[in-house]
Amino acid sequence: MLVDQQARPPFVAEYGLSLLLETEEWRGVFDAGQSPQTLRRNSELVGIGNKSLDFAVISHEHMDHVGGLSALKQLLKDDAPVYMPAGVNWRLLKSAEDLGLNVKRLMTGTRAAKAAFITSQQYGPPYEQSLIINLDGNRAVSLLGCSHPGPSRMVSKVLYDLSLTPYAVVGGLHLAWATPDKVRLEAEALKMLGVKVIVPLHCSGDPVKLESSRLGMKVLQASVGDKVVLPLDL
Ligand SMILES: [Zn+2]
Ligand SMILES: [Zn+2]
Repeated sequence: MLVDQQARPPFVAEYGLSLLLETEEWRGVFDAGQSPQTLRRNSELVGIGNKSLDFAVISHEHMDHVGGLSALKQLLKDDAPVYMPAGVNWRLLKSAEDLGLNVKRLMTGTRAAKAAFITSQQYGPPYEQSLIINLDGNRAVSLLGCSHPGPSRMVSKVLYDLSLTPYAVVGGLHLAWATPDKVRLEAEALKMLGVKVIVPLHCSGDPVKLESSRLGMKVLQASVGDKVVLPLDL
């Protein structure tokens, strides 16, 4: 985790989301947090060097996910793509292009790297896309920014677009302010889709953690500075 509200010292906490993703073949980043200072500082602490990331995926246009974009320029390799949903507002597009980022607006699902698939955008509002990492040809991880279109609706793409099981869900579930009924329905839907592990961050809220545990899903608490290795060795 690079940016979130919970951080282990000396990492900096901030309301926003940014996740570093690492496989044997590539390194990428999902969202850019609220401020370039926090993204830069936490990236240094994790040891990400300049020009070391292969791609960035931006889930949606809200400031707590794009505010740190200017810090990405140094971290990304030359001309590395920055994927945004086609529906993002023109001001964000222009400011990203003015920073010299190689922005790619996505209308449909696209492969970002080996075993990394960006979903087509769904409408919340705003337009939001998620990233799916294929772990082993059967199980996948669904990475969510804020889940404005609804977490289960976003995670269902793993099953319906890629025919994979959404083994793990990591990121913002946007249920912190939801009614108890809504939280229960979303948790039950995730369970029905086959989710085994949830790493609730950012705007997820505590009720979904309790509800997911009650339904038998494994809930992992993670802070900035923590590393989660998937699949879990259960
Ligand atoms: Zn957010
Ligand atoms: Zn948002």
